[in-house]
This record gives sequence, C-alpha cells and structure tokens, in this order.
Amino acid sequence: MATVTLNQAQKTYPNGFKAIHGIDLKIEHGEFTVLVGPSGCGKSTLLRMIAGLEGISDGEIIIDDKVVNTVAPADRDIAMVFQNYALYPHMNNYGNMAYGLKNRGYSKAEIDAKVREAARILQLEDHLERKPRQLSGGQRQRVAMGRAIVRQPKVFLFDEPLSNLDAKLRVDMRLEIKNLQQRLGITSVYVTHDQVEAMTLADRLIVMNGGVAEQIGTPIDIYEKPASQFVAGFIGSPAMNFLKGKVSDDKKHVTVGDGVMLDLDHDVEAGRDVTVGIRPEHLELLKDGEGRINAGVRMVESLGAETLAYLDFGANADNVTLRLQGTHTFEKGEKLSLSVPASKIHLFDIESGQRI
Ligand code: ATP
Repeated sequence: MATVTLNQAQKTYPNGFKAIHGIDLKIEHGEFTVLVGPSGCGKSTLLRMIAGLEGISDGEIIIDDKVVNTVAPADRDIAMVFQNYALYPHMNNYGNMAYGLKNRGYSKAEIDAKVREAARILQLEDHLERKPRQLSGGQRQRVAMGRAIVRQPKVFLFDEPLSNLDAKLRVDMRLEIKNLQQRLGITSVYVTHDQVEAMTLADRLIVMNGGVAEQIGTPIDIYEKPASQFVAGFIGSPAMNFLKGKVSDDKKHVTVGDGVMLDLDHDVEAGRDVTVGIRPEHLELLKDGEGRINAGVRMVESLGAETLAYLDFGANADNVTLRLQGTHTFEKGEKLSLSVPASKIHLFDIESGQRI
C-alpha cells in the first residue's frame, strides 16, 4: 500500500510546450483515482510522470515518503497496464506474467506460486501455455493485468487499458478491474477519456483541461456540483444543456430564451448575465401548457430503457436535450412543455465559466 503525492508537478516538453501546469494532489492508500479529460489535456503525460517514463520539469512526485523525481521507473515499485497490452508475442502467457519477477531474484518456486495465484484470480489458469495471439482481446488484457499483479507493486498505473476492446467487453473488464482493485486494495491511477468509465471506476476523479486539474472530487460531487462549465459539459452523458440567461431584479428568477423565467434558488446579484446549465435528465415533461419551457422536437432517439429528444428552444432555436426514462413517441415539430426544479439549475460565469 502506498500514497502518491504531487506538489506543483509541472512538465515542459523539450520543444517548450508546457503540458502540465502545476498539479497538487494526494492519492491515499488503496484509493482508485481516475484522470479524465479530452484528448491532449495532459492525462497520459501526468501518468507517465508518476511512472517515471517522463521526467518532471518542476515540483515533486512523492511515493509514500520518498521523493522519486529522479528515481528510475524500475525502482519506483509501480506496475503499469497499457492500452496495447505490451505483451511479448514470442513468450507464452506464463512467461509474460513471470517476466518481471525473473530479474528480481525470486526463486522458481516463488515465481510459480505468484503466477498461478494471479492466474487463478484472473481466471487464466487454462491459458497459461498459450501465446498472447491465441487469446481474445479481453484475455490478453487480463494477462497484462496479471503481469502487474504478480509484482505486488505499491501502485498500479493504467493508461486507457480498455480502449481496444469492444463495448460489451469494456463493461465486463471495467467491473473486473474495479473488483480486483478493491480486493487487492492497491493504490491505483487510471487514465481514460471515457467519462462513463471514469465515473464508474473512480473513488476520486480528476478532471483535466489544458494541463490543469479543473476539479478533483468524488464522481457524485463532480456531477452534482461541477466547478466550471467545462467540467459540467464533460461529465454527464448526454452533456449538460447550456443557455444564455439573465438574473431577474428580485434574484428569484433567471430569464432564458424569449423571456422564459425559471425559478432560482442561488445567491447571485440581480441583473447579472449568466450561463444556465440544465442536465437533460433534470428537465421534467409536463402536460401541455403546464411548463414554462416550450420546445419543439427536432429528433428523437429511442434506446429502450430511455428516450433522448433533441429540441429547439426559443427564438434562437437553442439546442436542448431531454432525457426521459422509458419509451416515448414524439412527432417531429411537436411542442413539449417542460420545467426544471430550481435546485437542478447550475449557473456559470459568462466569462470565466466558473460555477456561481
Ligand atoms: P490523449 O487522450 O489524446 O492521449 P492526453 O490527455 O493523454 O491525450 P498527452 O498525451 O498527455 O494528452 O499530451 C498532452 C499535450 O502534450 C498534448 O498537447 C501533446 O501534443 C503534447 N505532447 C505530448 N508528448 C509530447 C512531446 N514528446 N513533445 C511535445 N509535446 C508533447
């Protein structure tokens, strides 16, 4: 078990590009931390810095109580699982899992016990003699995990380990990884650009944007109280709706669209221009004329368990997404009457995008 601490960790690549702008973070013993963000936000760079595969330009990386800035990857007591598995094709799966132990001075019997235990945990016992190419993608990923487990490292690092798998297998492996991590209790850092994966796996989520940690918190905290419009738009699927709004003089309403007044329970100055955020699942469908928001149906997607309706709202035909449980049939152009509880309205500063 181990903690990982970053103190103002920074990375500038040799070409002068600053990929990480100074991140502070403490990852607790046994915690599953997920770095999530759009392509190019710096999540792989940060993970590789913890691994020692990229140098740190400024600040500190501490594993337990030891500053590891200049410690070689092999001496950091970490194990990394990659997207492309990085298995040796000419070795069988037993050999792949045993490889990292061989040059660490373990006896043959010790190696055998560790590999067989990992194979049992990962249900790979029947596949140890095969080569990686004789396995499915999911099994290969498990061998890669096995290779990490046998070393009993202080920290697991995962770099988009599921992105080469098909949708169903991704969900299965996601559950397996979570289960395994909880059982083994190994401090883990996991990189993904998939926000569903991030939400389901993380004890703590770090939403990155442009080399900065925009928000750090539990998945639910971040979903319920996104710190910025960027985070609000990135976490949650389908994405949060954003509308231009103006706070009324009595501060009890915010006006959106063509003068539609929504109830507000924020403490915000009168007359302020704001961005109003409403999650698709927080819009309520009411009987005709009962809701303040009237929007026309542009397109509908029926997913069985839920229905997504894409709507045009107001004179500017702002796009609004509505997410409803169950099956609904709407005609194209049909007007829907909607409302949203004041407690579900998010407000963001129009310039900085920060939560109000
Ligand atoms: P993705 O999801 O696409 O992998 P990421 O969030 O993991 O993205 P990084 O790979 O960490 O992003 O890259 C962060 C930024 O640093 C990007 O703008 C990238 O172009 C840049 N970058 C990465 N490696 C180098 C390098 N060796 N030299 C210069 N810039 C680099």
